[in-house]
Amino acid sequence: MNYEIARKRMVETQLVARGITDRRVVEAMLKVPRHIFVEEAMSAQAYSDSALPIGEKQTISQPYMVALMTELLQLKGSERVLEIGTGSGYQAAILATIAGRVYTIERIRSLALRARKALDRLGLLNVNIKIDDGTDGWPDEAPFDAIIVTAGAPDIPQALVSQLKSGGRMVIPVGDQYEQTLVRLTRREDGSVYRENSVGCRFVKLIGKFGWTAED
Ligand code: SAM
Repeated sequence: MNYEIARKRMVETQLVARGITDRRVVEAMLKVPRHIFVEEAMSAQAYSDSALPIGEKQTISQPYMVALMTELLQLKGSERVLEIGTGSGYQAAILATIAGRVYTIERIRSLALRARKALDRLGLLNVNIKIDDGTDGWPDEAPFDAIIVTAGAPDIPQALVSQLKSGGRMVIPVGDQYEQTLVRLTRREDGSVYRENSVGCRFVKLIGKFGWTAED
């Protein structure tokens, strides 16, 4: 299998054809090898138009969703970005290819360790990973230019909003456990927040203090 050709086809047919236009996002999606972030047995499906299982009942998101969420963050190159839900590390790799530094939090230790290995393998040294409940954010490293939550939240965790810089953007799926709306919040200078709804989506649960409980 020629992964480079598969990746190019993925970008053309799944991303550009659906309206992804940000040059930085397109270039990052062309560059980062998604097959590094899935189990070897799944590598032939790495460029398919779907989310894939990564173990621990979690998933690597669909390429289009990764591209859309990244585009909504409007990154230009020097930003400090916080991600909640490291999972495979693929979204963090895309962010790290575009932005200055990425801080990413994962609650499941085995996934965080595997993501670290994949990111190291690609030489992406501008990613810090923490094993913790990300719904509290990362106060020691705040504020952030952009925050991305890659698990479905029942509500917007206020701790995360308070860790956004003025003018900063947060992208988060909000809804019930079965379907959510992708929401972008922009923090204004006076501290108020501007909300825009994007597409419908379906993510695994954000589990934590300001998310769902594991039993929900
Ligand atoms: N961004 C990931 C990627 O590129 O592979 C996909 C993320 S997966 C859809 C959601 C991840 O969020 C899971 O790995 C899950 O364990 C994690 N998660 C759920 N609740 C969390 C929390 N409160 N803090 C940190 N990670 C959380």
